[in-house]
Amino acid sequence: MKIAPPQLTVQPPTATRPLVEEFKEGLDAPICLTWELTYACNLSCVHCLSSSGRRDPRELSTEECFAVVDELQRLKVFYVNIGGGEPMLRSDFFPIVEYAIDHQVGVKFSTNGTFIDADAARRLAGMDYLDIQLSIDGADASVNDLVRGDGSFAAARRAMDHLADAEFGPFKISLVVTRHNVEQLDEFKALADSYGAQLRVTRLRPSGRGADTWHELHPTQAQQRDLYHWLLGRDDVLTGDSFFHLSALGDPLPGLNLCGAGRVVCLIDPVGDVYACPFVIHDEFLAGNVRDPGGFTGVWRASDLFSSLREPDNPGACASCGSYDACQGGCMASKFFVGLELTDPDPECVHGHAEPLLAAIGAGTSSGAHELPVPSADHSRPGVPVPSPVTLKPTRRHTR
Ligand code: SF4
Ligand code: SF4
Repeated sequence: MKIAPPQLTVQPPTATRPLVEEFKEGLDAPICLTWELTYACNLSCVHCLSSSGRRDPRELSTEECFAVVDELQRLKVFYVNIGGGEPMLRSDFFPIVEYAIDHQVGVKFSTNGTFIDADAARRLAGMDYLDIQLSIDGADASVNDLVRGDGSFAAARRAMDHLADAEFGPFKISLVVTRHNVEQLDEFKALADSYGAQLRVTRLRPSGRGADTWHELHPTQAQQRDLYHWLLGRDDVLTGDSFFHLSALGDPLPGLNLCGAGRVVCLIDPVGDVYACPFVIHDEFLAGNVRDPGGFTGVWRASDLFSSLREPDNPGACASCGSYDACQGGCMASKFFVGLELTDPDPECVHGHAEPLLAAIGAGTSSGAHELPVPSADHSRPGVPVPSPVTLKPTRRHTR
């Protein structure tokens, strides 16, 4: 049996307290825990949120990874999202996954698919409580490879074919929505359907190498509206917490409609550092390390950072916005890495309220007037060219 982690959907308020209010105060254990096993990656995607490429010599050992799993089991964490880098590059990838599954911690792992050959697919298909998410960023090689590198679309398709041949079951196909692939959503859906797979659509954040390419790649306002209407009512497409800022356009979208950073969401990075979410790898959002005396549990339950993130929200500049209940002021990570204050509107505010602020700080201009936060670590491989999306030919409709 494969795990099917539930889509995080916050139900409308009932007679009792709304669930979302409980989430805001934090839970005893995260319900959406991402664990990046390595910074090593064979690709150099332009928007990589963790600037991955080279392994970090301080990465957790196999025994330390087992100890993390033991803690997650004690915390009754239902499943963990394993990623990287490319997690299958770790020589102990299978032992770690098998150890987690044997200890009642289900695994969903994200991969570029390069290392899923016929043998690996059969091995993965034989495991219970395992889900796989294959990442592509175009519905064809011409769009995908400009973001993820030459040959990466073919590699992902080979992996999908191997999983289908091995009768793995309904894996996930995951994409980050960009200005260049947003008009391929129907094609992505058809591709997923052709494999009996489920589509997962996520938001581009200006994190990691994404900070360098966000202004070029993030959807335009017109594309955001198209995306909103495409997502409305599509309960079979997963989105996590990606698009709650779009709910300011009207009816709420399915998915988690709040920033869960440090409340229900967190990241363990390859060296054991615990951040408030996978998109904020920066010292300001570093809560501790699993090697600390209290372990992951101590960080999750008692760190000053997570305690402060569980305080009531300060709506700041969004306080007078009629859409605040739906949008909640948007994504903390997106604001932070473009140089906005956390009390400012989301940089992709659908009412355009962030645009004067972005213009004032010179965000996205060659003058670079404003000094932007720099991620804690950059593991990009020196000398390995990152694909250049600025060379992407505008064959599709680009509107602002
Ligand atoms: S900072 Fe953004 S990406 Fe991170 S949990 Fe909050 S909304 Fe999600
Ligand atoms: S002003 Fe703030 S709350 Fe209103 S839509 Fe924009 S980001 Fe959301």
